[in-house]
Amino acid sequence: MLNQVKVVLVGTSHPGNIGSAARAMKVMGLHQLVLVDPQCDVDEQSMALAAGANDVVKSAKVYPTLEAAVADCVLVVGSSARSRTLDWPMLEPRECGAKFVENGQSAPVALVFGRERTGLSNEELQICQYHVSIPANPEYSSLNLAMAVQTLTYEIRMAFLDHQQSAFPEATQIEYSRHSELEMFYQHLEKVLTNTQFISKDKPSQVMSKLKRLFSRARPEAQELNILRGVLSSIDKSVSRK
Ligand code: SAH
Repeated sequence: MLNQVKVVLVGTSHPGNIGSAARAMKVMGLHQLVLVDPQCDVDEQSMALAAGANDVVKSAKVYPTLEAAVADCVLVVGSSARSRTLDWPMLEPRECGAKFVENGQSAPVALVFGRERTGLSNEELQICQYHVSIPANPEYSSLNLAMAVQTLTYEIRMAFLDHQQSAFPEATQIEYSRHSELEMFYQHLEKVLTNTQFISKDKPSQVMSKLKRLFSRARPEAQELNILRGVLSSIDKSVSRK
């Protein structure tokens, strides 16, 4: 299960943080480091701070966008020091660990971290199904990037160890939709709602982001998403007949 976890760092600008994050991951048994649009090169400082986790840094994958980095993931959780800026489904760090173990048995799952100065953009936060916030000192709540990685990956490891000891480690798995499938559904939904004039092209509203929040909360299973796509196609057909 630990092999399914991607730790995604978006727009990192300090090479040292990449190394420290890799070290934080490896001590918790995680290896898949993903860099999205990094603002610095991996350099000697990264390697020095990675210490024995050089291999994690060297095998890091780089993507231009968050969207591309998490396309194959069935669970995408974004971490933020600011709680509830978007009023999105929230997880406590402990629940977050459990969610990763529950969903990461046989499909990729991603834990996303933002830029040192500005965190994740609203658009990036909306790609995530849940947000997780470490309940730190409200007057000084922003952890160093690698320390946030350490704290949240520790919770994944604790949940993983608990699960290993549980009486039913092989409970049946729900098959959730991958991010790319959800994204295609959102595009289809927006197209249909524009065709039916529920959404107006010239007056973009908050409707799509409210709907994304609704589906993030509901977390459709793969089969349910297929039904929803079928519903949209039937509307497509009926609209084009008219
Ligand atoms: N000033 C930025 C903080 C960035 S810290 C902001 O307002 O968002 C860099 C990253 O570390 C954050 O994007 C987040 O992914 C993680 N992080 C820092 N503190 C955190 C906290 N208390 N809870 C969850 N993640 C946190």
